[in-house]
Amino acid sequence: MRRASPAGRPAAGGRPPRPRDTQPEQLGFEGMPERLFVCTPSRLGAYADCPRRYRYSYVDRPAPPKGPPWAHNSLGASVHTALKNWYALPADRRRPETLPTLLKGTWVREGYRDDEQERDAYRRALGWLEAYVGGLDPADEPIGVERVVAVKTSVLAFNGRADRIDSRPGPQGPELVIVDYKTGRTGLDSDDARGSQALALYAYAAERVFRRPCRRVELHHLPSGTVAAHEHSVESLARQVTRAEETARDIMAAERSVADGADPDDAFPTAPGPRCAWCDYRRDCPTGSAMPGKEPWAAVERFAEPSAEQD
Ligand code: SF4
Repeated sequence: MRRASPAGRPAAGGRPPRPRDTQPEQLGFEGMPERLFVCTPSRLGAYADCPRRYRYSYVDRPAPPKGPPWAHNSLGASVHTALKNWYALPADRRRPETLPTLLKGTWVREGYRDDEQERDAYRRALGWLEAYVGGLDPADEPIGVERVVAVKTSVLAFNGRADRIDSRPGPQGPELVIVDYKTGRTGLDSDDARGSQALALYAYAAERVFRRPCRRVELHHLPSGTVAAHEHSVESLARQVTRAEETARDIMAAERSVADGADPDDAFPTAPGPRCAWCDYRRDCPTGSAMPGKEPWAAVERFAEPSAEQD
């Protein structure tokens, strides 16, 4: 079909319009689809936390160098991968005795102060895993482990990797549950599960990918062995999607304003706060660099203190 010109007339001479450097979806001609904002939970979360951090991570190229790796991220990644690999074993081999091998095989060494601190963290992580799998039925097969789910709305093309998606019996048949592992120092409650945009988006996407209800989201906090859960409704999931779309619109507007010549520092302002101490870009940020930072191992050293969120 011949494509109409912006004024509704066929392009002159019947030739297709010459390609432009700018993205035509952004010109906003009536009837033309808006460009979908491709995003993950971390991308949306970065902007919501601090627009400047978003800019450093996703807009500036080359991106400013990140600070050194964090020990708490290494610890979280090691535990997550060990649990992923536990589920990759045949059910009859999912036994606590396999955990030291699994954890050693996935252990990330970066960020610790010294060998002693790293060994202590390993022992602690192994204890969490032993206690956690002790409460699991090895025969249970999640419907997804580190499973990517994706969904589109009129604004967003969302994709994200859920730690685990369970299928559990519900009153009307099987229902899906989003499970997110946490290894941070502080405990979590149902308000954390209810307020998590990432979990809500995973649930919204999983329901559409698997065509089964997915309303329950759970935070499994391994250090305390507790589960913080929330049952979403269709409406509460829709509200979280709307909020995500609002964030996406804000991001696209900021990116457009920079493309139109605005000062990137104004379009992506800093949002200083306690998080700056843990920010990967603190050294390059005019606001963050004036604030004291944390040592890469600080979160694992003082496990009892509240601080940065750890996955
Ligand atoms: S140091 Fe603080 S203000 Fe600067 S980018 Fe990081 S979070 Fe934002």
